[in-house]
Amino acid sequence: MNNLLAGSEWEIIQDNLSENVAHFETLFTLSNGHFGTRGTLEEGTLNKKEGSYINGFYETNPIIYGETAFGYAKKSQAICQVPDGKGVSFAINGQWFNGENGNITHHKRTFNMQNGTLTRTFEWENDSNEKVRVSIERLVSFEYPVLFATNYVIEPLNFDGKLEFESKLAKPFPNQKENHDDPRISKRLKEEYTISNYSEEEEQFLHCRTFNSKLELLCAQRLVSSGKQVVGHYDEKTESLRSFSSSTVEQNKPLTFTVYNYYSYPFKESLVKEAQVAIHTLKEAIEAGYPSLKEYQIKHFQEFWNKSDIKIEGDDTVQKGLRFNLFHLYQAAGRNGKTNIAAKGLTGDGYEGHYFWDTELYMLPFFIYTEPDIAKQLLLFRHSILEAARKRARELGVEKGALYAWRTINGEECSAYYPAGTAQIHINADIAYAVKTYIEVTNDESFMQNEGLEILIETARFWLEYGVYVPEKGNQFCIHGVTGPDEYTALVDNNYYTNIMAKNNLEYAASVARKALESPMFKKLELSMEEVVKFEKAASAMYLPYDFDKKLTKQDDMFLEKEKWDFEGTPKEKYPLLLHYHPMIIYKYQVNKQADVILAHFLMGDDVSKEQVKRDFTYYESITTHDSSLSRSIFGIVASEIGMGEKAYEYFGDSALMDLVDYQGNTADGIHAANMGGSWMSVVFGFAGMQLHKGKLTFKPALPKEWQALSFKIQFQGSTLQVEISVEETTYTMTEGSRIEFFNHEQKIVFDHINATSTCSV
Ligand code: BGC
Repeated sequence: MNNLLAGSEWEIIQDNLSENVAHFETLFTLSNGHFGTRGTLEEGTLNKKEGSYINGFYETNPIIYGETAFGYAKKSQAICQVPDGKGVSFAINGQWFNGENGNITHHKRTFNMQNGTLTRTFEWENDSNEKVRVSIERLVSFEYPVLFATNYVIEPLNFDGKLEFESKLAKPFPNQKENHDDPRISKRLKEEYTISNYSEEEEQFLHCRTFNSKLELLCAQRLVSSGKQVVGHYDEKTESLRSFSSSTVEQNKPLTFTVYNYYSYPFKESLVKEAQVAIHTLKEAIEAGYPSLKEYQIKHFQEFWNKSDIKIEGDDTVQKGLRFNLFHLYQAAGRNGKTNIAAKGLTGDGYEGHYFWDTELYMLPFFIYTEPDIAKQLLLFRHSILEAARKRARELGVEKGALYAWRTINGEECSAYYPAGTAQIHINADIAYAVKTYIEVTNDESFMQNEGLEILIETARFWLEYGVYVPEKGNQFCIHGVTGPDEYTALVDNNYYTNIMAKNNLEYAASVARKALESPMFKKLELSMEEVVKFEKAASAMYLPYDFDKKLTKQDDMFLEKEKWDFEGTPKEKYPLLLHYHPMIIYKYQVNKQADVILAHFLMGDDVSKEQVKRDFTYYESITTHDSSLSRSIFGIVASEIGMGEKAYEYFGDSALMDLVDYQGNTADGIHAANMGGSWMSVVFGFAGMQLHKGKLTFKPALPKEWQALSFKIQFQGSTLQVEISVEETTYTMTEGSRIEFFNHEQKIVFDHINATSTCSV
């Protein structure tokens, strides 16, 4: 049995190779936001999903509907598995190691979150009792985002003789025809791209070209054996680059082989230029050598942890789970303004590599408060697809503004099931909410005046056009025919979450616009004061459904009138419901897949009374299945806010360990990146009670009784604040910056020099 708690607090150890193979492949994925590669073994595994991905390298295909209708999404988008560079094999005196022959002992893999590496050690004895000790270490570089390097050390333990070594950069296994009803797993039916050999300055490359999306990629591999570069060749039959080396070895004298894999960013032209960049980068990295790449990696992660670590005293299990989540979140984020974070990061092709609202609502808070530069790049991606969002709004017959795609890679909508896809127009308000938080936390004026303002205005315009003043409801502003976050309820009128988030979107767009009257963006968008006033009017007339008899917030106009789902009569095996019941059956009942009203209270509940939140919490919790991984963390945070500490801790435990212990049962297909962000929020917004309301930053810490202490850092308006919470007191210290103002409960604290500190009793 693999014990996830074994090893240091920074390590995840696997010593049983045959247990939960695909789960560990996901857990042990290394990536850097551009390239990601699953933790498969060098000799391959039976499940044949080596899984290497490039963020933004995808193929499109026509969506074939049995019955179609106007405006349905036309093309699918799916992230491609790119050529895999992990496969190597070696032979002792002619016998090749394949993972199944001879005798393997002392096997151990260590996922090191402090260094950003995956190491593997084992001993192998061949059929002639000749034995080697093998140590392998991988890293996906943060110094050169285009590089993935592996270092192999092979030591003969009891023989002299011949050691052969072969590395390959190979076409992925043919896509399996997967026939299943699980919408979370990708269905890959076709070849996605062609591979050809390309050479430049006598260097060999694989040149990949997708058929329909017309994206290109250049991949290369170089093998360095004991300091010497081996000349590789292209093998036409297997469409792979191969490098081979043969050496004479002596007992106890280890040999080192380093494999450097290069993956360009996706491109559409300029192959020659791309090849030259690749040649130059590879030369530079190879000259510096693997130890130098590793040194950089360690330094890089030191800086990361210095900014982003959360230390918990009193619970080693959740401590590890939380660090694992933060590590993966950081790894997953696109950083070039052209890519985002897929729901599964780059750890698998579940959900086909699509970007959802998951990024803005669940992951961005972590980045905004710890890595604002990355947060900005993620928002710039949204800005880069604004044109596609405008087009989508027109396709839906909305003449002004923009509607972001529910799921996408390139900006176009690719959800083939509109009731739980396009109809989730709350994504517009989710993105606007993230823009607002980013601006308030960073004071990034230039972003606000340009990209921020444009996103805010275009999303607000959409609400104005899409919604309607309803005389029967006292001329309140209503939004009809939408789906809220809860995907077990679809196509409703006045989803509370959507309406309150749209209100916020309209209000904030108007307030920012009022401050930017003279800005060029105001003119570019042909924004008039009259329109700004319309935003304000719709926001203040926004209808928010409420049941005055039951004293409950209504999830939508009709929700509370439906019959409740028969929870008692539903056996455990029937969950998640989406795999066992037709959507129409699910939609008929009061049953939630995930937080909806409760999510609204978390984000927009400042003006809602605690009693109201408590009532809604109790009600909606009783009908929520948490079939979506996005649910538990939110219930946990709100439980903290309303003083249900034990419940909060239980939810947090599930969220912190979700992928490590495979709580949802499908981590094999990839991590649950949104939940990972949710676990960060659970600590910072939940237990530390951090809130940002009308620009005012407040902490109301309440440690779970299991913990002795909690500490973390956040960045706020250019300063870094360290927060250390113990059972008795909380100490705040400004470790960087020039000024920060915040509140501990009602007490205002202002720091104006580095190391300024203040301790408050709990
Ligand atoms: C959830 C959505 C989420 C998607 C991707 C679905 O199961 O219901 O809210 O965006 O997964 O993570």
